Amino acid sequence: MAYIKEEYDIVVVGAGHAGCEAALAAARLGKKTIVFTVSVDSIALMPCNPNIGGSSKGHLVRELDALGGEMGKNIDKTFIQSRMLNTSKGPAVHSLRAQADKQDYSRAMRKTLENTDNLTIRQAEVAELIVEDGRVQGVKTFSQGEYRAKAVILATGTYLKARCIYGDVSNYTGPNGLQAANHLSDSMVENGIPVRRFKTGTPARVDKRSLDFSKMQEQKGDVPIVPFSFSTDPATIQKEQVSCWLTYTNEETHRIIRENIDRSPLFSGAIEGTGPRYCPSIEDKVVKFPEKGRHQIFVEPEGNYTNEMYLSGMSSSLPEDVQYAMYKTLPGLENVKIVRNAYAIEYDCVNANEVLASLEFKKIKGLYSAGQINGSSGYEEAAVQGFMAGVNAVREIDGKEPVILDRSQAYIGVLIDDLVTKENMEPYRMMTSRAEYRLLLRQDNADLRLTDIGHEIGLVSDERWRAVQQKKELITSEVARIKEIPVGANKKTQEILEKYGSSPLNTGVTLDELVRRPELDYEKLLDLDPEHKDLPQDVIEQINIEIKYEGYIARQQKQVDNFRRVEQRKLSPDIDYKSISGLRLEAGQKLDKFKPLSIGQASRISGVTPADISVLLIYLSKEGK
Ligand SMILES: Cc1cc2nc3c(=O)[nH]c(=O)nc-3n(C[C@H](O)[C@H](O)[C@H](O)COP(=O)(O)OP(=O)(O)OC[C@H]3O[C@@H](n4cnc5c(N)ncnc54)[C@H](O)[C@@H]3O)c2cc1C
Repeated sequence: MAYIKEEYDIVVVGAGHAGCEAALAAARLGKKTIVFTVSVDSIALMPCNPNIGGSSKGHLVRELDALGGEMGKNIDKTFIQSRMLNTSKGPAVHSLRAQADKQDYSRAMRKTLENTDNLTIRQAEVAELIVEDGRVQGVKTFSQGEYRAKAVILATGTYLKARCIYGDVSNYTGPNGLQAANHLSDSMVENGIPVRRFKTGTPARVDKRSLDFSKMQEQKGDVPIVPFSFSTDPATIQKEQVSCWLTYTNEETHRIIRENIDRSPLFSGAIEGTGPRYCPSIEDKVVKFPEKGRHQIFVEPEGNYTNEMYLSGMSSSLPEDVQYAMYKTLPGLENVKIVRNAYAIEYDCVNANEVLASLEFKKIKGLYSAGQINGSSGYEEAAVQGFMAGVNAVREIDGKEPVILDRSQAYIGVLIDDLVTKENMEPYRMMTSRAEYRLLLRQDNADLRLTDIGHEIGLVSDERWRAVQQKKELITSEVARIKEIPVGANKKTQEILEKYGSSPLNTGVTLDELVRRPELDYEKLLDLDPEHKDLPQDVIEQINIEIKYEGYIARQQKQVDNFRRVEQRKLSPDIDYKSISGLRLEAGQKLDKFKPLSIGQASRISGVTPADISVLLIYLSKEGK
C-alpha cells in the first residue's frame, strides 16, 4: 500500500547539474514539477573539479544561458576566479573558465530552486519506475511514496549503485560519502532499459596551510572579468579574485606510482567500470605516457569557506599511503596534509543509444534521461542535457515537437548527437575538436545563435530577445558601414598604421581592409572613421571577428548549408531497414537499432557506409519520400 500519493506533471530524479536545469525549465514553463535528491544539502554539488567552463565546456554554458538555462547566472554569482582560456589562439577555441566557491554555488542554486513557482524539492530515494502500456506513469520512492506524473526525467549522475574505491578500501556510497541509490537500476532493467558500469575519479583535497606556494607558479584571474551569462552586467562582477597555482609531478612521483601500480584497483581489476580517456587518473597517465618526465598539476581553491585545495590533474584510486608518498614529491607539497583522499567512483548508467535526440527513451514514452546517466562526464555536459530533457518533456506533454539542436547550431547539438548516435564505450567529455563547425559555434556568439530558440521555447524574456535583435542589427549595419568607408593613404592614416607597427598604405582602401590586418582592429582605427558610434564591447568583438574571419566563416557556412541539406532529409522511425533491398545486413541492423531521424544522422552511425546511404536515398525517392 502506498503511504504518500501525489500527482505532478513532471518528476525529476536528481538535483545535480542536469536535474536542476531540467526541474527549473519544466517549472518555469508552468509544469507542476517535483525534483528528488538523496540529500537536499547536495543540490548542484560539485563532487570533483571546483570550476565551471574551460575548453568547449565554456561554450556549453554560454549556449545554455542563451537558451534560458541557469548555470551561467549561478556561476556569475559564486565564482572566485575567472579566466578566458586559449586567448593566444583563434576565437573558435576561446573558452571562459571560472573557479567556483563550491558551497556558494550549491547554496545559490538551491535558493533558486526553492524560490521557483511550480517546483517542489523532496529528499527521498526513488526506487522504482511506474510504467504502464509502454508509457511512464510516475515513480515510487524507497519509502513507498507514489508520485504520479505525465513525464519522468532520470538525472541520477554517479549515484546508481555507486561504489567509491581507493586501494583496497571500497564503500557503497555516492560521492563525498553521500547515500548511494541502490534500487532504481533494477527497476530500469526490469522495464527493458539495460544499464552498464562507468567510472570516474577525483584527486585528494589538501590543506592550504601545509603548502609552500613559493615553489609553484601563481595563476591570477583576468581583469576585467568577463561574465558567463549574457544577462549579467560585467560592471557588477568586477571583484577581488583568488589565485590558482601550477606545480608538476616528477620522476620520483612516477617511480612511486610505478612501484605500486599492482595495488591500484584500476590495474588490479577491482574497478569494474570504464573510465574517461580524456580525464585520466595520474596512474593512467604515468603508465600510458612513460616518456613524459612531468605532468602539470593545478592547485585550486575549493572556496572562500575552506582551506581545502583541489589537485587538478592528479585524480587517483591508489592506496592512502601511496597517495601520501606521491603527493609529497610535488614541489610545494613536501609537507602536504591530505584532508580527503583521492578516490574513484563507479556507478550504473545507460547507453544513450537507448534514447532519441529529444532524450526520450525509445522504449518508454514520457521517460527521459540527462547527464552522467547518459554516459557523459562533466557538470556542463550534464546541465545542457538536463535543460533539453526538461524542455522536451514539457513539449511532449503539450503535444509539441521536441527541440533538437543539430551539429551546425550548437555544441549542445554535437554533444547529444554524439551520445545518441555513436557507440561511446567510456564517459563522454566535450572537446572543441568534436565540433566540425566550431568557427561558427563560438562561445562569444552563443546569444546570436540561440536566443531566438530560447524565446520560442518560452524561457527567454521578450526584453532579452529584443536586446539580442538590436545587437544583431548593430553588428550587421556596422560591418556593412565600415566596408563602405574609404581610407586614404594620407599622413594621418600612415601615422596610425606606424603606431601599431602595420605596413603603410600605397593607395586608398576601405576601412574593413585595415581591420582585417592581425595587428589592427576596429577600435584601433576609430580615428579614421569620422562617423563611428560608441558601441558596446560585445558588439565590437563580433565586428572584429566577422571581418577578420570573413573568408573562413563563409567557407564554413557553405559546409553547414551542405550538412543541413542532408540533415533535412528526414527518416521516419517506422522504416523497416532490414527489408530494404541492397542494404547491407550490418547497416540494416544498425539502422533498425538507432532509428535515425535523418539521412545525416544515419550517415554518422558507425558501420553505415556512404554506399548504404546511397541505397537509402534511392529507396526514399522510390517511396516518394
Ligand atoms: C568522484 C567524482 C569524480 C568526478 N570526476 C570528474 C572529472 O574528472 N571530470 C568531469 O568532467 N566530471 C567528473 N565528475 C562528474 C561530475 O560530477 C558529473 O559529471 C556531474 O556532477 C554530473 O551531473 P549530473 O547532474 O548528471 O549528476 P550528479 O551531479 O551526480 O547529481 C545526481 C543527483 O541525482 C540524485 N539521485 C541519484 N539517484 C537518485 C535516486 N534514485 N533517487 C533520488 N535522487 C537520486 C543525487 O542525489 C543527485 O542530486 C566526477 C564525479 C565524481 C563523483
